[in-house]
Amino acid sequence: MSDNRHAVALDGRVALVTGAGSGIGRACARTLAESGAKVHVVDVDRAAAEQTAAEVGGWAHVVDLADPAAVDALPGVVDVLVNNAGFQHVAALADFPPETFSRMQQVMVTAPFLLTRKVLPHMCARRWGRIVHISSVHGLRASPFKAGYVAAKHGLEGLSKVVALEAAEHGVTSNCVNPGYVDTPLVRDQIAGQAAANGIDESEVVERVLLQRAALKRLIDPRRVAALVRWLCGDHAAHVTGASVPMDGGWTAA
Ligand code: NAD
Repeated sequence: MSDNRHAVALDGRVALVTGAGSGIGRACARTLAESGAKVHVVDVDRAAAEQTAAEVGGWAHVVDLADPAAVDALPGVVDVLVNNAGFQHVAALADFPPETFSRMQQVMVTAPFLLTRKVLPHMCARRWGRIVHISSVHGLRASPFKAGYVAAKHGLEGLSKVVALEAAEHGVTSNCVNPGYVDTPLVRDQIAGQAAANGIDESEVVERVLLQRAALKRLIDPRRVAALVRWLCGDHAAHVTGASVPMDGGWTAA
């Protein structure tokens, strides 16, 4: 699905993608490498990190992003930062484990904050940088039973905007990408869970439960999210900052 008519040249650039062992992160690592970047592949899953790194000719870092000391040990000489790692937990407020809520904020808000602080000095010194946060339609809209996730993604939206304001004069942009449901293991797990819980088949879960609020009733290919991330990394996108770009099949239009 590479499209060279809209090529973004990232030769000589170094990227760091969190959660790059799977799904959207892996698609981003592949796409950025395809555009010439050298990629630091960060993931808590060793085998997955090593596999993606080998595939893209990058470096694997096995790190739990909930651990601030481990995050601090990651490289800071980075031109493109993709804050992507995340996870879901579905439960009613009364049943939502507080420790899971906290871990979600650590992985999806605090780690992006720490990583942004880590890479900004290099980006500002080079007067060029791109920070892309993989938020979600849930950074803009809420759904029941997703307190930890919705809170984290809304927090990430706020962080991205502050970074955009502080970094603009240094040639660094910060943006969120807001996908609807993407075809990755994270969503496949939810589909299987809902199908079992409701006694319906998986295609019905996709159309009638997950994508109820989207006009387009199909899961998104992770390569499409990666293509948007790459677009935001182009020099043409220098004025796109502090933005949240939905790729949600019309969900937030309704
Ligand atoms: P995924 O489960 O396929 O991949 C997530 C990766 O992050 C995994 O490799 C996992 O090991 C890694 N990870 C999780 N916790 C980590 C931690 N503490 N430290 C280091 N690595 C960790 O999921 P995905 O669907 O590709 O999701 C990627 C991002 O996209 C997430 O932030 C998610 O919220 C967001 N997103 C996904 C969808 C979707 O429908 N799949 C929609 C909107 C936003």
